[in-house]
Amino acid sequence: MSKDSASFSARPRKRFAQHWLRSDKALAQILQASELQQRDRILEIGPGTGILTRQLLSQVGAVTAVEIDRDLCRKLGQKLGKIPNFLLLQGDILELDLPPLLEPFPDFQKPNKVVANIPYNITGPILEKLLGTIEHPNPHPYELIVLLVQKEVAQRLVAQAGSTAFGALSVRVQYLAQGDYVYTVPARAFEPPPKVDSAIIRLRPRLVEPPAENPKRLSQLVKVGFSSKRKMLRNNLKAIVESDRLLEVMNALNLNPQARAEDLSVPEWVALSNHLKDL
Ligand code: SAH
Repeated sequence: MSKDSASFSARPRKRFAQHWLRSDKALAQILQASELQQRDRILEIGPGTGILTRQLLSQVGAVTAVEIDRDLCRKLGQKLGKIPNFLLLQGDILELDLPPLLEPFPDFQKPNKVVANIPYNITGPILEKLLGTIEHPNPHPYELIVLLVQKEVAQRLVAQAGSTAFGALSVRVQYLAQGDYVYTVPARAFEPPPKVDSAIIRLRPRLVEPPAENPKRLSQLVKVGFSSKRKMLRNNLKAIVESDRLLEVMNALNLNPQARAEDLSVPEWVALSNHLKDL
């Protein structure tokens, strides 16, 4: 832990889910996981006091940081504003439409990677903003996304079918990206410490192969299929698929008729949706 790696001090605000990272080890792991190259253009969400931002600025071509907190933006601007490869945008990452905002700044357009210690209260919406959805994958996917998230979320993102952590979020994200669990970051690595441990996750966006023929159908099956985790898949799906038809398809795909939603791998979900795509 070192004090001088933080750019400045600021009282953390609960409202913006502010937890300052203060572990050099975790910082080094984030940077290493990001496979930084001089040509990279990074998007950072929630730079906070700039601890990660500073490191990124010294290693890549451009860093665009989006920070919602006006006071932090003012301080960040004072500290880092003169660095030529830094662009700071004040606003809510979920609301901003980046491409038009970046248009006046050719050196910052089309960031190829996202590296961030994000606000945990909006993890789901951030993932959706970065990856898109099963129905509407991001048409300009990032090469790499490295995020600090709650450990439990990280486990769900990389969970294998059949494990208890495997759920609708796992299917949705794994359909859109290949994920690695990089490193566990204990709560004490932050000031103030969050209630739970965290983890660094790395996502490489790509559609699963082969992709769904009817993505809308896949999305619907996942939603309804996981609606009650205790029930067998076929009972959950009764509401939208005729039982005999479903058993026939499960049989054709060599799926156990007693299977629960969490037992099906992502390719099996895709296969199921392809067989039921016209219903
Ligand atoms: N990266 C810093 C801060 C992480 S805390 C560090 O590692 O120490 C999360 C940061 O996200 C805070 O700076 C917070 O103000 C910012 N933030 C919260 N909600 C946001 C939103 N909707 N859009 C952009 N930034 C947000």
